[in-house]
Amino acid sequence: MPLSTISLHDKQFAPYLTAGQITAAVRELAAQLNRDYAGKQPLFIAVLNGSFMFAADLLKEIQLPCEIAFIRVASYEGTSSTGTVREIMGLQEEVAGRDLVILEDIVDTGHTMKALLELLRAKNPASVEVATLFLKPECLQHELALRYVGLSIPNDFIVGYGLDYDGLGRNYPDVYTAV
Ligand code: 5GP
Ligand code: MG
Ligand code: MG
Repeated sequence: MPLSTISLHDKQFAPYLTAGQITAAVRELAAQLNRDYAGKQPLFIAVLNGSFMFAADLLKEIQLPCEIAFIRVASYEGTSSTGTVREIMGLQEEVAGRDLVILEDIVDTGHTMKALLELLRAKNPASVEVATLFLKPECLQHELALRYVGLSIPNDFIVGYGLDYDGLGRNYPDVYTAV
């Protein structure tokens, strides 16, 4: 059955990517990670809230001994919302000497990821890589080594599969865009 438009707050969202397309991208990322981390014991760090669904689906496909940690990031308050990360909240695991893989829902300007990478690298891990489900290459404002990218998309605002519009829309298995 074709997907229909959904209504969240004041906006309408039209189908953009199907659950099947997302599953294929997640499986491809998992296959790359299984190959690259063979013989290692990575610590996956999922950035809440947006990455909860991605992290759950990806980790089910990881066939390595691994750990998962969940963090939130606190942003600087200010008139210009740059999303610059001030603090990592909820990281209890020792990261020094570990192989870290950050799981992020989407990288847009890259402000958040740049700051998060700096905060994590300061804790002396053995390695840090990023696995982001979505990337908006046109919007990226920093040189970031994003080794694992699920799907590159144009500069469209998307919801679903963990991503929200003002709190709503995270529950949908498909992805929608504002119309
Ligand atoms: P940044 O600009 O720092 O790379 O992205 C910051 C955050 O903005 C992302 O982690 C995500 O929470 C949010 N964001 C960026 N693009 C989108 C989008 O298309 N849809 C939704 N729902 N959130 C987005
Ligand atoms: Mg995010
Ligand atoms: Mg959000």
